[in-house]
Amino acid sequence: MIDLVNVTKTYETGTHALNGIDMHIDDGEFVFLVGPSGSGKSTIIKLLTAELKPTSGSVLVNGYQLESIKRASIPYMRRTLGVIFQDFRLIENKTVYENVAFAMRVIGAAPKEIKKRVPYVLELVGLENKGRRLPNELSGGEQQRVAIARALINNPTMIIADEPTGNLDPQRSFEIMLLLEQINALGTTVMVVTHEKGLVDRFTKRVVAIDEGRVVSDGMDGYYSYEA
Ligand code: ADP
Ligand code: ADP
Repeated sequence: MIDLVNVTKTYETGTHALNGIDMHIDDGEFVFLVGPSGSGKSTIIKLLTAELKPTSGSVLVNGYQLESIKRASIPYMRRTLGVIFQDFRLIENKTVYENVAFAMRVIGAAPKEIKKRVPYVLELVGLENKGRRLPNELSGGEQQRVAIARALINNPTMIIADEPTGNLDPQRSFEIMLLLEQINALGTTVMVVTHEKGLVDRFTKRVVAIDEGRVVSDGMDGYYSYEA
């Protein structure tokens, strides 16, 4: 569960990136976070992942109070999140299987668990036959599926996808959104940050629109009222 209460962020440059954000996301929700370039979307993500601390206000992420979290607790908080990026961020000299397995190894999972879980998650994202490929032997859509598998492998409460379709053509983008929708249906909370209105409009989902560091609309028709 995510709860932002009256959150502000002012960078050292003096830029007021967030000007009193209130946002509540329950477990199990699917939410699009939209807004023009510079509106504060990346800043919100960095607050949720504890890369940044808020200037004021309260940031609660899956039980962790991030404005006061201890450094030693941050890795545990991050395990409750799976983050996906526009540029995939795969390890180029590791196979698909190893890219996904690695994320389990680093948290000390047992080899037996890894052998069971990796094939399951690769199948979930439709890559059960691509385990031995290297990332550069895959299409962009497939590479993003690897990144989604890696994000899911340690069973996070929530997936945060930061412009996940920014490098994909419209059909591949739609397929990635369908996959995220399917993952949400299996119980994982999903937040997709995007400025692709056409894609958002193909789904009937909650849309939180921000502009100049403020929430300007929030609802099932959020993006329309934001445009108006
Ligand atoms: P978005 O992701 O919606 O494009 P950002 O959160 O990146 O927006 O940016 C919000 C505002 O904060 C912008 O005015 C941006 O220029 C500013 N900003 C972002 N990162 C920094 C930073 N590290 N230092 C100073 N200003 C920043
Ligand atoms: P070990 O028994 O030596 O720990 P595994 O038998 O789990 O290793 O796997 C050996 C290598 O074979 C892995 O590192 C991985 O690259 C590859 N591999 C294992 N299972 C799969 C699979 N289902 N799909 C693709 N590659 C696999």
